[in-house]
Amino acid sequence: MLPEYDIVIVGAGPAGSVAAKYAAEKGVSVLVCEKDREVGIPVRCGEAVRRNSFIQFVQPDKKWIATEINKFAFVAPNNGRVVLEFPETGYVLNRKIFDAELARQASAAGAIFVTRAYVNGLILEDGKVCGVKFEHNGEQKTIKSKIVIAADGAESRVGRWAGLQTHVDFRDMECCCQVTAANINVDENTCYFYFGKDVAPEGYLWVFPKGNGVANVGIGVSGKIGKTKSASSYLNDFLNKNFPDASALTSVAGGVPCTTVLKKISSYGIMIAGDAARQVNPLSGGGIVSSMVGGCIAGRIAADSIINKNPGLVFTYESEWENRLGKKHRIYNRIKEGIYNFSDEKFNSIITSFEKVPPQKRTLGSLFRTALFNQPSLLLDVAKVFID
Ligand SMILES: Cc1cc2nc3c(=O)[nH]c(=O)nc-3n(C[C@H](O)[C@H](O)[C@H](O)COP(=O)(O)OP(=O)(O)OC[C@H]3O[C@@H](n4cnc5c(N)ncnc54)[C@H](O)[C@@H]3O)c2cc1C
Repeated sequence: MLPEYDIVIVGAGPAGSVAAKYAAEKGVSVLVCEKDREVGIPVRCGEAVRRNSFIQFVQPDKKWIATEINKFAFVAPNNGRVVLEFPETGYVLNRKIFDAELARQASAAGAIFVTRAYVNGLILEDGKVCGVKFEHNGEQKTIKSKIVIAADGAESRVGRWAGLQTHVDFRDMECCCQVTAANINVDENTCYFYFGKDVAPEGYLWVFPKGNGVANVGIGVSGKIGKTKSASSYLNDFLNKNFPDASALTSVAGGVPCTTVLKKISSYGIMIAGDAARQVNPLSGGGIVSSMVGGCIAGRIAADSIINKNPGLVFTYESEWENRLGKKHRIYNRIKEGIYNFSDEKFNSIITSFEKVPPQKRTLGSLFRTALFNQPSLLLDVAKVFID
């Protein structure tokens, strides 16, 4: 490790590793500090992604793909269900290997990774961020940098230390927990989504197969709900009822900020990317690809700002994010607000009405149109998403 780098990135998740790769490719020096002992562990993720959205960053590889997904099943509170063919391919990843591969690619581009490096403060000079303080192998260290990229996940603190407003309303912080369990006998190419106030109020429960009877079974409920009954109690109730023979091999819990991006994601010497910037798709809670998008933009702009000796360039990050995904996420957020208020009866009637749609016309878009039939204002939002 050198005493100074052009860019220091905090966190080696998808946002941090992609930012590191795009910055290093431009020839600037990059250090990534990761607090855990190994990149990619622990996995706190359902691991589902759309192929078409992430091939812009990395070509699919069997090493880190657990299963291919070609169907979605939506299950109503009364157990009515619809199954949709997915017109493109989805994957359930093996994120342990996937995250390590992203880090390997960034290293190949010239970025340096250091694990067991817990960033616990920033170096500030005249209010400008000039580096990080961190603990490594029991020793307190400092590294100077021209720009720090905070890619430190949903529980991020780095942005706040820099004076940026990072607060998320507790209602928008989905409480998630998940088990990766054996003896879950479901179709291996279908992702299942369960809805209803007894299963996952103000959220949903998922079963994402990983092959050989193993699946990620998880739940996300609004922070408001999580205060009265925990997400893990809902998950246990579901498993006992639906998969009594399931055996949990791992279990994880974590928050997902299901809201729109922070008002400010950059300032002199600091940029925020991924979950830390709240760049998650607020409707699905999926953040793997959107974190990579945020990381890619942040890494590229940070490098350009250093190469061109133009510190103010970091402010263009906000408008680039807005054009790439920010506008879409605002629409998803409004749709989420509408769906959160659905009663069980509404979910049941949506699935019942949808069963009448001829199979060849059953698409995700037509399901949303059925769901939002009585809410014209939301229908307009849905139309905007599908036109985009
Ligand atoms: C239960 C659950 C299920 C999910 N399912 C899906 C899904 O199916 N599909 C999907 O697309 N998304 C899913 N997500 C969301 C997805 O996991 C995240 O959006 C994604 O991992 C965000 O990437 P990131 O790089 O921003 O943050 P992270 O992947 O969280 O990486 C942040 C990194 O920063 C490190 N770090 C934190 N603080 C410090 C510090 N002070 N010093 C050094 N290092 C630090 C952490 O150790 C971590 O490695 C799920 C999330 C949860 C909790």
